[in-house]
Amino acid sequence: MLAGRAFVRGRLQSVELGISEDGMILSVGKDRSDAPRHDVGEGVILPSATDLHVHFREPGGPEGMESIATGTTQAAIGGVGLVGEMPNTEPPVTDVEHLREKEDRVRGSAVVDVLLYASPTRPRALDRLATRAGAFKLYLSPTTGIDTPPDRAALGPLLARLAELGLPVAVHAEDPTRFSAASEAKDPVTWDSTRPPVAERAAIEHLLSVAPPSLRLHLAHVTETESVDRLRAAGVSFEATPHHLLLSERSRSDALTKVNPPLRSEKARRALWECFLRGEIPCVASDHAPHSLAAKERPFPLAPSGMPGTETLLPLLLPSVRSGILALPTLVAAACDRPARWLGQPQGRLAPGHRANLLVVDFRQRSRIDARKLHAPCGWTAFEGWEAIFPREHYFHGQKIVDDGEFVGRPTGVVVRPEFAPRPR
Ligand SMILES: [Zn+2]
Repeated sequence: MLAGRAFVRGRLQSVELGISEDGMILSVGKDRSDAPRHDVGEGVILPSATDLHVHFREPGGPEGMESIATGTTQAAIGGVGLVGEMPNTEPPVTDVEHLREKEDRVRGSAVVDVLLYASPTRPRALDRLATRAGAFKLYLSPTTGIDTPPDRAALGPLLARLAELGLPVAVHAEDPTRFSAASEAKDPVTWDSTRPPVAERAAIEHLLSVAPPSLRLHLAHVTETESVDRLRAAGVSFEATPHHLLLSERSRSDALTKVNPPLRSEKARRALWECFLRGEIPCVASDHAPHSLAAKERPFPLAPSGMPGTETLLPLLLPSVRSGILALPTLVAAACDRPARWLGQPQGRLAPGHRANLLVVDFRQRSRIDARKLHAPCGWTAFEGWEAIFPREHYFHGQKIVDDGEFVGRPTGVVVRPEFAPRPR
């Protein structure tokens, strides 16, 4: 049983949290069992985060760059108890055989739970995939491992089919017909102009014009306020990443901050951050996508896009709560509650019937991000030197997996599916 100040029903209050043998929250309030009592003292108890957008490069990634084991360990340390892992590994997850192979890799190596996305690029594989996958990820522009996005006319029928299948569908929305030649980019500023905001706007407009209302749609990594307003008006779920909220195209001049969609101007970044502070952005997600330093140091047009981020997702945002800029309910909703709900997962709230995936955060324990102390095999971060607050403890299914900031868990993570999805046959 955990006792202390906890985020319950929208605010911090002193409670006791009763936890069942199988790792669920049994009671919130007075615990009448004789379970051992752990008082968290100066810490506050928050639900673990859900990072619904990560790329762990397994199978088929560069040797030693990232794996389900290393990726989920970073998640655990950063306070993430569930990750949504993307399908554009090598080979991509386009049928049940590849999905099963990835499920086998999760078992025995993941230290937090993993929901596996599938790629809906093979129409004949869709029905069987939908009985086993956790969600679909659709790319409207070519990406690593998936180079054939659906053409304009095919998108509507595909989305109608996906709506029937019932799984959540996340979309990378950039319209490649609005891109100019990537070879013209020489730094993050010109990268922004080769994949400009108009590409995002055009893709979102087209998507919203053909998506059936019953589709459980979510837009990945939105970068500007026009998208926020448009998606809010349409009632569609979406995310922003810490890098689009905190960094701009002028934060660095090298390819470490080369990402898709690109970092935007400082003015656009600030406006996006203001939206987040006002609670207008429903979810935050890392789009964790590590590459080796050697790959990132290639000439800019050849350097791959992506940066690591699941370990720093929550720790980068907690200092703004401490300083009073960001309301705790806004952060918990965006990092913990809404991502879990979109994926159909009983977690992200301190309430009976939810998984006992809990953090103890001591807001006095401030640190500076130092890549040497992070756990990403790539060994670098775009947030070097930034202030952070890492969780002091992380309980996963009721068991402590992070103690005093150190990982102490075991590979007990499982593959999860939305609770509203069709069950495997
Ligand atoms: Zn991604």
